Amino acid sequence: MIRIAIQAKGRLNEQSIELLRESGVSVDENRRKFLTRSESFPLEVLYLRDDDIPQAVSMGAADLGIVGLNEVAEKGFAVDVVLKLGFGGCRVSLAVPKSVDYSDPRWFEGRRVATSYPRILKEYFAREGVTAEIHEIAGSVEIAPAVGMADAIFDIVSSGGTLVSNGLVEVEKVLHSEAVLIARPGLEPEKQALLEQLKFRVGAALESRGMKYLLMNLPTASVERAIDILPAMRSPTVMPLAQEGWCSLHSVVRQEDLWNKIEALKAIGAEGILVLALEKIIK
Ligand code: ATP
Ligand code: MG
Repeated sequence: MIRIAIQAKGRLNEQSIELLRESGVSVDENRRKFLTRSESFPLEVLYLRDDDIPQAVSMGAADLGIVGLNEVAEKGFAVDVVLKLGFGGCRVSLAVPKSVDYSDPRWFEGRRVATSYPRILKEYFAREGVTAEIHEIAGSVEIAPAVGMADAIFDIVSSGGTLVSNGLVEVEKVLHSEAVLIARPGLEPEKQALLEQLKFRVGAALESRGMKYLLMNLPTASVERAIDILPAMRSPTVMPLAQEGWCSLHSVVRQEDLWNKIEALKAIGAEGILVLALEKIIK
């Protein structure tokens, strides 16, 4: 049995559950308690506030956790970052009022910066050789300059909309973050084996996201050119058709490349192109 801590509610909750589900680890959300056992994998889910996850993992209240890299960096507990999970993307950035004529980090010298991430900010200023006043506040950091509590802020930015609506401009991107799988260092062998199993499944689930399965009919004479267009896992599958001079070609492509590939394939004579959802890629 292995125990994973995930966010009880908030931005990471649903995607954490979805990723576990895609990895064959289902938890019945209707029967959810503080600690819930998965029906399909020897795993328990512990629901916590995201701030508490790094500590829970480092102290052994949980073996694993899914949390933003920003929280891992801020809390500074000893945990291993095992996998990046590709969701919850954001950055922790310095932002100043838009009236400021900003040039470089020396602007912060002697100024007051409001943040919920004092540790990351302190390390950044130390690296830059800047001495600033760091004011730790728990929430609504973005209003601090407008109400005279600070000259600048250091906070999470994703789209930047919150900054704009508060008259602020992002000037330094200090940390790029996304949700990560963390583990307690030195897991017992039985738990390490379960972690390896989970890593394999999560990796496969992540890899198949955003991929499509592509099938088409193609003149046999165009196969070489099609292989150049479609570098699949090994190479595309090519099968003869009943009609002389034609074949059926199967491949896997990234969602973002899909239309470019389709246009290139049509240009070399592909017909009857089918695009199918892909369930899993197991390498
Ligand atoms: P909790 O109640 O668990 O403490 P919270 O209010 O601290 O929740 P959320 O706002 O749910 O946290 O954000 C959780 C994580 O989602 C952040 O720590 C960060 O890693 C990530 N995230 C991604 N984009 C954003 C964003 N635009 N604003 C805030 N967090 C974001
Ligand atoms: Mg939190």
